[in-house]
Amino acid sequence: MQVTRGLYIGRFQPYHGGHQAVLEQISREADEIIVGIGSAHASHTPTDPFTAGERIAMIYGALRKLRRWFYVIPLPDLNRNAVWVSHVKSMTPPFETVYSNNHLVVELFTEAGMHVKRPPLYQRDTYSGTAIRKLMLEGAEWKHLVPEPVAEVIDEVGGVNRLRNICQSD
Ligand code: ATP
Ligand code: MG
Repeated sequence: MQVTRGLYIGRFQPYHGGHQAVLEQISREADEIIVGIGSAHASHTPTDPFTAGERIAMIYGALRKLRRWFYVIPLPDLNRNAVWVSHVKSMTPPFETVYSNNHLVVELFTEAGMHVKRPPLYQRDTYSGTAIRKLMLEGAEWKHLVPEPVAEVIDEVGGVNRLRNICQSD
């Protein structure tokens, strides 16, 4: 029988419980999971504080318990939306279904004739990268919103201090 693969793309700044809920769904529907790290070239900015390598470590830690084979693939931005799907396909194993709620991602893959599923949003106000970065900046609790291995990577690299430093005005 042929292996089925589902692709999930995000920036994962950081990877959080909403992403994990979607990947748990994909793990029930596909044999293998491909996680594409969007804006892989970006780091050390207020909206993209973590490097691709740090995000890879977060995702490997969080996915270990899913009992599915998975690939984590960095995808640097091309800044050419018209050829972005070909770019993604050139960097990933073959896949049947793309899972996304990002309007541009949905549009581009649909135009390319791919099968796109829009997973339900899991407590979107709470589980959001923007909301979690804001909590970090405010010195509030954020670790309950990410899988434990993600919090460990963020601590390991001094992520909260980095975010505060790069958000300071000069
Ligand atoms: P940011 O606020 O930095 O944009 P984000 O939480 O939207 O972070 P992304 O990495 O931009 O996370 O999103 C990757 C994918 O995860 C997108 O398709 C997005 O819709 C989806 N997603 C984000 N939050 C949730 C959630 N709470 N439940 C389900 N899917 C989510
Ligand atoms: Mg987003």
